[in-house]
Amino acid sequence: MRRKLVAGNWKMHGSLSLNEQLLRELVLGVQGLECDVAVFPPFPFLAQAQVLLDGAALCLGAQTVSQHSFGAFTGEVSPGMLKEFGCRYVLVGHSERRTLFAESDDLVAAKFLASRESGLIPVLCVGETLLEREAGLTGVVVERQLLAVLDKAGVAALGGAVVAYEPVWAIGTGVTATPLQAQEVHAAIRGLVASYDAPIADGLRILYGGSVKPGNALELFGQPDIDGGLIGAASLIAKDFLAICRAAN
Ligand code: PEP
Repeated sequence: MRRKLVAGNWKMHGSLSLNEQLLRELVLGVQGLECDVAVFPPFPFLAQAQVLLDGAALCLGAQTVSQHSFGAFTGEVSPGMLKEFGCRYVLVGHSERRTLFAESDDLVAAKFLASRESGLIPVLCVGETLLEREAGLTGVVVERQLLAVLDKAGVAALGGAVVAYEPVWAIGTGVTATPLQAQEVHAAIRGLVASYDAPIADGLRILYGGSVKPGNALELFGQPDIDGGLIGAASLIAKDFLAICRAAN
């Protein structure tokens, strides 16, 4: 049995006072839940979150990371630094990083590998655009994104890691993939990994992301290959995020 994970990607939102209120509500709300829950605040708030989450059943993650350990890379943050601030997870290859910041498959794979090597759990985001889906290229795109990581890091690096399938057309749009559309891609992802290593594929947590809300989470998380969610907008509202966490329980 794979333990479900619900991950809240705050993107570039939050303030010291808003975070404190949200995190206090979440810390109370996740008590007793069986699933794993994590929040991904912007970098400057990691220290605040680390303190507020001390001893809580709520983990911390970051939204991106450098592939380098240290050096002259202005503006970058290394995996080791994230670990010092209590991060357990890190998103790599979120579609906003790929499209707005030109992160290539190769760079995403390097970030995945660097995270893994430092002991962070990378959450590898993959997914197709609307144009790609309409052209029947969903499988091709997702496979290309996964193969970049498998080629660079090897299948063993996926052991204990997390993949998030996030159709780009569903992120922040209010349009959600149907449970069957999502399940189909999740099964294909697991199948691809299984062709390298069946036990790793079997244990791999594959999250769905893209306009998950309290009203659609239960059905999505009920699919056999959907092991939780990567949540954007709804993760900023304690009541909604907690309702989604309960749907994963
Ligand atoms: C995301 O940012 O990864 C995401 C899925 O956002 P939203 O839930 O707002 O679609």
